[in-house]
Amino acid sequence: MVEGKAQLRLPMPNLDDKVFWEGCKRHELLIQRCKDCGAKRFFPAPTCTKCASGNTEYLKASGKGEIFSFTTSYNTFGPQLVGHVPITIMVVKLAEGPLLRWTNLIDCKPEDVRIGMPVEVVWDDVSPDVTLPKFRPAKKK
Ligand SMILES: [Zn+2]
Repeated sequence: MVEGKAQLRLPMPNLDDKVFWEGCKRHELLIQRCKDCGAKRFFPAPTCTKCASGNTEYLKASGKGEIFSFTTSYNTFGPQLVGHVPITIMVVKLAEGPLLRWTNLIDCKPEDVRIGMPVEVVWDDVSPDVTLPKFRPAKKK
């Protein structure tokens, strides 16, 4: 925790997303793939959103994608975001297809954020038990 910043409320893994959060702790961005129809999905769910099959496997995503949608908040809306604003909250369209929601953009000025901006995952080890996937503008190759 950084001094002067409020402690953010952290995810509490459940049976559906436990594997995803364990992957985050290893700095692996896991998405689900239906073993019957091949559809890839995020957020983790017990059944396929396309064919309702429960036959699921996890695959490691590249961590690359682009900004699908975003908003930048300058308002703390209470004590929780004190020290964290401005904060960009966004949906990332992963290179593998699924939309990853919700996450934050870092290392980018709010005025520079654009829909379609290439981004890459970075890992924020916020506690011994929780690592959050965040994104930054992708480095040019
Ligand atoms: Zn399916």
